[in-house]
Amino acid sequence: MSVLTDLIYGGSHAVIGLTEGAVQDAIGKLGADAKVAFPDTAYFLPTIYAATGVKVKTLGDLPACVDVMKSLVTDKEELGDALNAGLATAVGAEILEALKFAQNEDPYKEETGIGFVPDPVIRSLGVPLVTGDIPGVAVVLGKAENPEDVVNAVKDYQSKGILTFLIGEVIDQCVAGGVKMGLELRVVPLGHDVTAVTHVVTVAIRAALIFGALQPGDLKGLLTYTKERVPAFVNTYGAIDQVVVSAGAGAIALGFPVVVDIDLGENQVPGALESETDHSMTVKKSLELRGIKIKVKEMPIPVAFAAAFEGEIIRKNDMHTEFSSHANPTCELVTSVPADQVEDHKITVVGPDIDAGGELALATCVKVYGAKMQPDFESVIERKIHAWFNYMEGVMHTGQRNLIRIRVSHDAFEKGLRLNHFGEVLYNMIMDEFDTVVDKCEVTFYTEHDQVQKILDEVAMPTYNARDDRLASLTDESVDTFYTCILCQSFAPSHCCVVTPERLGLCGAVSWLDAKATKELTPTGPCQPIPKEGCTDERTGHYTAVDEMVEKMTQGAVSQVTLYSLIEDPMTSCGCFECICGVEPASNGVVVVNREYKGMTPTGMSFGELASMTGGGVQTPGFMGHGRHFISSKKFIAAEGGIKRIVWMPKELKDDVAEKLNKTAKELYDIDNFTDMICDETIATDTEQVLEFLTEKGHPALEMDPIM
Ligand code: SF4
Ligand code: ZN
Repeated sequence: MSVLTDLIYGGSHAVIGLTEGAVQDAIGKLGADAKVAFPDTAYFLPTIYAATGVKVKTLGDLPACVDVMKSLVTDKEELGDALNAGLATAVGAEILEALKFAQNEDPYKEETGIGFVPDPVIRSLGVPLVTGDIPGVAVVLGKAENPEDVVNAVKDYQSKGILTFLIGEVIDQCVAGGVKMGLELRVVPLGHDVTAVTHVVTVAIRAALIFGALQPGDLKGLLTYTKERVPAFVNTYGAIDQVVVSAGAGAIALGFPVVVDIDLGENQVPGALESETDHSMTVKKSLELRGIKIKVKEMPIPVAFAAAFEGEIIRKNDMHTEFSSHANPTCELVTSVPADQVEDHKITVVGPDIDAGGELALATCVKVYGAKMQPDFESVIERKIHAWFNYMEGVMHTGQRNLIRIRVSHDAFEKGLRLNHFGEVLYNMIMDEFDTVVDKCEVTFYTEHDQVQKILDEVAMPTYNARDDRLASLTDESVDTFYTCILCQSFAPSHCCVVTPERLGLCGAVSWLDAKATKELTPTGPCQPIPKEGCTDERTGHYTAVDEMVEKMTQGAVSQVTLYSLIEDPMTSCGCFECICGVEPASNGVVVVNREYKGMTPTGMSFGELASMTGGGVQTPGFMGHGRHFISSKKFIAAEGGIKRIVWMPKELKDDVAEKLNKTAKELYDIDNFTDMICDETIATDTEQVLEFLTEKGHPALEMDPIM
């Protein structure tokens, strides 16, 4: 037997022994009926569930799983068999980690690590992964001989937007090396035990269940999905023992190449397990092995510029300058103008720069010209200012239009960051991402209070108002084209969103205007026009042209889809939806639940459980993912009677959409303060109590035709 397979089998046997013992111990202590589960997931112990279809709920379910583990370890010489043994190690790690949760309510309390990654987080990663905003996922484990090596690699991944999970002592090494951590910063410490590797394995596996419509028990389908669609890879630092090698074999079985920093000599497996002893080459080699290409954005500014800094928070004490609409007039405005009114790449600052520190007013005015530019694209570009400013390390941006807050840190200021750099960022990003429609671009910043106030009153506000009027007049009836969006097909191969003026993409990130701009920017891209033709049923919003286009875009997987129905051929869901709507039979209505809500709903299911009913590009009558803004749309499940069917929403969501939803209810049904009739978790989650509340309020759903 080769040294490699020897190590793999050795590791697997060791883990099986450990797992078997730990399961027996736990059963002895807590009893076979004691519950075992990871927090906030609808997929039980995800690896076991996906690979075998077994729904582990109690400790008593585990001995059978240990037997399955054993059957995976054949001790045969072939690499394929050895990789299966690696999967057994992954299952063992999952069980050992799950036992921590069974025996301790909060096992990661004392850890520099988050342990389990909840389902909603995985769903929220869908869009950044499909857009390439997160180009890949790195798993970094072990303990570097020279801490600087791992710190440099992780910082490099961070600057490239790669999502990095840390396991083992590399966590402490990165903390000491000043790596900024957190999910928003794309560096996530999982835990110190090597078994914590399971928490990234289950992310990949749940991606297959959530987005890929994988059938539990389809091990082959699972391995194909993770290999082809999850762009992950592994780096190990320091000496590796048989358990690490065996876990690494599990990663390879999932299709994730492993790069180790010790010399494996002839034990290397090209493309799957390779050595790289030159630490300055680790990142490059890993990206090449996984086929990840990074679009480099070299920005002429004195601080780092990367999507990974989008979530950076700058506290008052660290702040050098603030532009805030609470203290001063502010606005951000992109306008399209004739060619002779733009001087390309001109950046001007009128008024004091940020040198003085403290509070300042700010008008950010961007003029663009392009032969293919349309006024409708102004707001599409303008909304990206938020992300681009945030990409600068040491800059925090929130809000848009006239309501914004920008903070610049002392650190960034000391490195020399000034407003003209903000201008460089805008210029370079606009010319990069909108090059098809923008030929020339000029940026001017105004910081004098009175001058900004004047721009705000005389130019910005009238422009925003005119745009709002245009948006309000944009209805499904007023246009002759809808758009597809199939961005999410890289994870959900048979999913297609149909985007209309009154129904945005279910991720909440793609409006009809965005789709229209995307079509202009990348003519053969994910957003293709659908001529609004062949309406066969106005009630459900059924168009033959939509059917044909969806059938084509999903390679025949979906051939009939309606725009306005939850029950009859509803739109498919990929998995990254902001909200889910589901039938609540007892009250003859629907519940709408947002991804952030962790509690129970009157359907007896949490968001995660409701969400697991649909996804992967499959139509599930009665369940449908959608964007937040769709809730107040006049087209929201119009076929079933519209918003009048909404009987329950989490309070936060209800408050967030109240103003618009109440306006729609007033317009459509002449109901005042409709949201007062909608139940939430602070009132009740129990079906009977919900019904009582609805009856007391005279909720319209109770009187409507049966929903199903
Ligand atoms: Fe994915 Fe639909 Fe959003 Fe496009 S609109 S990114 S397909 S969820
Ligand atoms: Zn999606």
